[in-house]
Amino acid sequence: MNEAIIRTELATCIRMMEYLGLIDFSGHVSMRTPHKDDEILINSWGASRCCLGPQDIVRANLDGEALDKNVIVPSEIHIHTAVYRRRPDISTVAHLHPPVTTALGVAGRTYVPVMHHGAIFGTGVPVHDNCGHVNSREKGDALAETLGDHRAMIMRGHGAVVAAESVKAVFFGSVYLEDNAKKLVESLKIGEPIPLREDELKASAGIWRQNQFDKVWRYYVEKTGIHFP
Ligand SMILES: [Zn+2]
Repeated sequence: MNEAIIRTELATCIRMMEYLGLIDFSGHVSMRTPHKDDEILINSWGASRCCLGPQDIVRANLDGEALDKNVIVPSEIHIHTAVYRRRPDISTVAHLHPPVTTALGVAGRTYVPVMHHGAIFGTGVPVHDNCGHVNSREKGDALAETLGDHRAMIMRGHGAVVAAESVKAVFFGSVYLEDNAKKLVESLKIGEPIPLREDELKASAGIWRQNQFDKVWRYYVEKTGIHFP
């Protein structure tokens, strides 16, 4: 995959996440550049998330420094760089502000898979017990340690992080992180939620695959009409 395609996918992903209310004016999504494991592409600090395009995706190193001239990277780029330094298996990171997922962390409720697609979080969604901005290398490292080997993490009183192997996979994970949280919270209003059983988690784990990423991605591209020529 060349850099131009990654820029277009990142911009599309961010715009669709903004449309879905998963990120607001300050979330960000990044990906490692194709041929250098120590460089990433991420949306710039200033580009408005509701209307940015591929031209607003900028390069940075794993110390969180901009590599392009006259560019400001998000102050919380350290969320991304710390995960990349710790997780060679991860190519894409999203920092979201999903309201219902975040509310579970605020309420001190354990995030459990209750829906079929929620099974992708069967190993758990840890909570980083610090609501502050992750604006330094040290804070990034602490957050990456909380994430560990998981796909997603809640930042109490702040938001969430999703880590995956591609932009479409991180979009898929982000959509279903919040979807499962919504159903979990709804069920808490009327009764005691029934988490997926071990055998159900195993049986449903296979939905984490490319054709599912493609299907969900295509659905939201067509629904939102977000397209870059
Ligand atoms: Zn944030």
